[in-house]
Amino acid sequence: MIRAAVLPAVGAPLEITGIELPEPGPGQVRIRLTAAGVCHSDLSLTDGTMRLPVPAVLGHEGSGTVVSVGEGVTHVAPGDGVVLNWAPSCGTCHPCSLGEVWLCVNALNGAANVHARAADGRELHPGLNVGAFAEETVVAAPCVLPVPEGVPLADAALLGCAVLTGWGAVHHSARVRAGETVAVFGVGGVGLATLQAARIAGASAVVAVDVSPEKEELARAAGATAYVVASENTAREIRKLTGGHGVDVAVECVGRAVTIRTAWESTRRGGRTTVVGIGGKDQQVSFHALEIFHWGRTLSGCVYGNSDPAADLPVIAAHIRDGAFDLGALVTERITLDGIPGAFDAMLAGKGGRALVVF
Ligand SMILES: [Zn+2]
Ligand SMILES: [Zn+2]
Repeated sequence: MIRAAVLPAVGAPLEITGIELPEPGPGQVRIRLTAAGVCHSDLSLTDGTMRLPVPAVLGHEGSGTVVSVGEGVTHVAPGDGVVLNWAPSCGTCHPCSLGEVWLCVNALNGAANVHARAADGRELHPGLNVGAFAEETVVAAPCVLPVPEGVPLADAALLGCAVLTGWGAVHHSARVRAGETVAVFGVGGVGLATLQAARIAGASAVVAVDVSPEKEELARAAGATAYVVASENTAREIRKLTGGHGVDVAVECVGRAVTIRTAWESTRRGGRTTVVGIGGKDQQVSFHALEIFHWGRTLSGCVYGNSDPAADLPVIAAHIRDGAFDLGALVTERITLDGIPGAFDAMLAGKGGRALVVF
């Protein structure tokens, strides 16, 4: 028996319970988890904002050690440290053929598979392909990437979602250039990674925005040069901080209509807004035709940082090794599996950065 955090049904509380995992079949890898980050998308699966087959073992941002490999797996071997990639690309669909692997239409096909069994015999799915809230997991080989040299194995878990997303939002989606000004809305795990990425990109000013006044220190440690507690005056305050113009780039890491609209209004004429946050269908953002013309701004979505993990991880790892990117600064709490429901509550209350389950 392996302990895991299982979502029995949408809207139901998580169960921390024993599961039975099969041995890895052809093309699969069994991993003993070292750490797993608690991401807002796990919460979005529990409340139904995102829909995937349940009951499911949640958790999609993880790292660990390979225990055994199935037939045909050659890129990792038992004993190797690995990062989990919850969105493996197929390489053959239309977006993949265009090189936009983050939009792979087959990326979440694995979520429909039966992944494990609960003690009472229920079949369990792997929440977002990987089922990382468990002492061990069995995943498809493309979900496993070797941990880059010099990156601590536990903190490496964060590479698999928050870091790739924040890094990619800055470097691929918004394409921040040295000297530009950036505002980051939402100082959670992804927001903190985005702040660090903006600093590394050479942004001349980085404004962090959050509803909580308590995250200022965290934000400044990640690279924020100014901190704004969200209010109806946020856009005005950001313009004031940038010579009356507004920032060149806004990154929205919340997924709410009001923050998307405010982020857009905070950018200069011709500015770019990247939406990383995942919101629900009830979050309608409205623009009138004249302002779209007048401001000449760009608003774009960003999926998994518009990132190719295999290409980006070595680049990010180099910044970790030279001390520019501090993975540990994203983690505000280290917990056990039993601490996940509490970490969900903290996220709902808008507290902290990333909670990391350490096994
Ligand atoms: Zn995530
Ligand atoms: Zn594909």
